[in-house]
Formats: sequence, C-alpha cells, structure tokens
Amino acid sequence: MKVIEHLDKATDPLFSYEIVPPPRGRTVQDIIDIVKELVPYNPPWIDVTAHAAGAFYNEKSDGTIERKIYKKRPGTMGICGIIQNRFKIDTVAHILSLGFTKEETEDALIELNYLGVHNVLALRGDGPNYNKKIDTGRSCNHYASDLVEQLADARNGKFINEISGARPLDFGIGVAGYPEKHFEAPNMKSDMFYTKKKIDAGADYITTQMFFDNKVFFDYVKLCREEGINVPIIPGLKIIKNVKQLQTLPRHFYIDFPDELVDEITENPDHVVEIGIKHAMKQAEGLLEFGVPGVHFYIMNDTESVLEVVKKFR
Ligand code: FAD
Repeated sequence: MKVIEHLDKATDPLFSYEIVPPPRGRTVQDIIDIVKELVPYNPPWIDVTAHAAGAFYNEKSDGTIERKIYKKRPGTMGICGIIQNRFKIDTVAHILSLGFTKEETEDALIELNYLGVHNVLALRGDGPNYNKKIDTGRSCNHYASDLVEQLADARNGKFINEISGARPLDFGIGVAGYPEKHFEAPNMKSDMFYTKKKIDAGADYITTQMFFDNKVFFDYVKLCREEGINVPIIPGLKIIKNVKQLQTLPRHFYIDFPDELVDEITENPDHVVEIGIKHAMKQAEGLLEFGVPGVHFYIMNDTESVLEVVKKFR
C-alpha cells in the first residue's frame, strides 16, 4: 500500500521509521533484528535510506595515495525487498538523483516494482565527492524535482526510451522538506518555491528533516499551506542519545536545538538518554495535538529510545 493510502485509512496516529543499510562488510541480519523489534508496534511503513558511491583515500606504505570509489552502504533495494516480502511491511525506498543516471534510476524502479515495493522518497542527495563519468547516451537528473518528473512519467507508463504498450510503474512519491530551510537555499522563500516544484511535478507527500522545536514545524506547515502546498507533511523526529550530538546533528543536518534542551543536557550529561526520550515524547504529543498524520522516527538503527517513546502512545 502507498504511504498516502496508509494516511487516508488511518484511524490512529501512525508511527513510521527510517533505517540505514549496514556498512559494506556487515550482515543484513543487523537490519532483520531491528525490523523484528519494530514488528510488535505495527509500523505502517519503513523507509530505507540510499547512499551514493563516494571517493575514499588510503595512504599506502610507499607514501602514495590510493583512491577508491565505492558505496559504503549498499543494499537499499534488497533490504526493501526483505522487509516488504518477509515481514509484509510496506517500505519506502529512498532514491537519489546525484550519483545515478536516469537509466540507473529506471532500472532501480523496475527492480523495486518486481520486489513489490510501491513507495519511493525522491531526493537529490548531497552529491558524491567525485565526478561520476557519464557515458554517452546516458543522462542525469539534477534536483529532486527532476527525479520526481521521471517518477511521474514512469507512473504514466512513460519510460526514458519510448516502449509501446509499456506497463506503468506505479509508485507513491514522497519528497524531503526542511522546516529550518535547506542549507543551500538562500532563503526560505526560495526553498519553498522549489519544494512546491516537487509537489507540482507529482509528489504525494513531504517528510521533513529532523527538528527539535515544534514551533519550527508549525510555522513550516503554515508557510507550505500559504504557498499552496497542500499534501500531507509528516514530521521527522530524531531522539538525542549522547552529548556529542549537540554538535554533530547541527553540523550534519543544519538544525538548531532549543535553549532549554541544550541547558538541560549540559547540566545533566549523565542523563542525556532520559532527557532525549522525555523531549521526544513532548514533541510527539505536541505534534499529535496539532493534528499531524503521523510521526516519522529517524532510528538510525537504534530502536531503544524510539520504542520507549512509541510505547507511550499505544
Ligand atoms: P532538492 O529538493 O533538489 O533541493 C536541494 C537544494 O536545491 C535546496 O536548497 C533547494 O532549494 C534547491 N533547489 C531545488 N531545485 C532547484 C532548482 N531547480 N534550481 C535551483 N535550486 C534548486 N540523503 C541521502 O543521501 N540519502 C538518503 O536516503 C536521504 N534521506 C533523506 C530523508 C529525508 C526525509 C530528508 C529530509 C533528507 C534526506 N537526505 C538523504 C538528505 C538530502 O539528500 C539532502 O538534504 C540534500 O542536500 C537535498 O536533497 P533534496 O531532495 O531536498 O534536494
């Protein structure tokens, strides 16, 4: 079932989750164990993140530098297939425009369709740290809106090269939204303009970047509605688990922490886990009161704190 169908049919608030494929060299059992922990909480869907290949450098014994290009976390489609077919839980496969050609994207959509996966989150990605060579005869999407256009075409049975009588690849399409603005956008107005472009291209819903102050989400929803963005907006929550995240999360995700949360953690660093859970419970409560269709948890493969929060609402 598609995400928007889940949202339409829901009688209780929905709690969905986002997991990350294991690093190359680990086993898929890591993910299976996480999904088993989530199963008792009836996840309506689970997102699986995608990762473009990057360049990695290694200094050899003779002092020369070796450059290797590979995906650190492959396996998005395989993991979606396992969750979808073994656990019968709907999955949302993240797909990226940067680092992939349109032809690779089309192949991925065909594969996901064969696996019974009916949802994708269309993202630009942050760009690989090397220039992928694009062979003649291949083409690329740049922004997420370009990717949504390709997806919307596939949904109408339109492939890159015309195929007569082609069956449509029918996917629910989600896109990312940034209550605290995407870091590259010069201002919120510009970010909103391009977010609307993704919706106009055919996206069905928005999942937001993590935020720690509900007010930024409420303001964001208001702004989206004023700009004519009327699709469901699903808030993304992350639960802080250690003191270091006070620096790393703003650095990686361009988000801000509310003063009270920073003060409380700084004054009681040994209690950061409990403080994080308490804060997330309060955020989830406020969001549900506001009338969000569901809450999406970035579990980053650590279920403990998330399930503590979810239990409260069961
Ligand atoms: P876009 O919507 O393309 O926007 C990127 C920037 O370009 C914005 O500043 C926008 O305002 C601007 N822009 C858009 N279109 C245009 C245009 N036509 N002309 C000029 N400017 C334009 N990353 C991963 O690598 N893997 C994941 O699995 C992943 N999952 C994510 C899930 C969620 C819910 C979120 C919020 C983010 C996720 N990301 C993931 C991170 C995401 O890839 C980065 O934030 C990336 O920098 C932007 O992606 P986007 O899809 O929002 O890009």
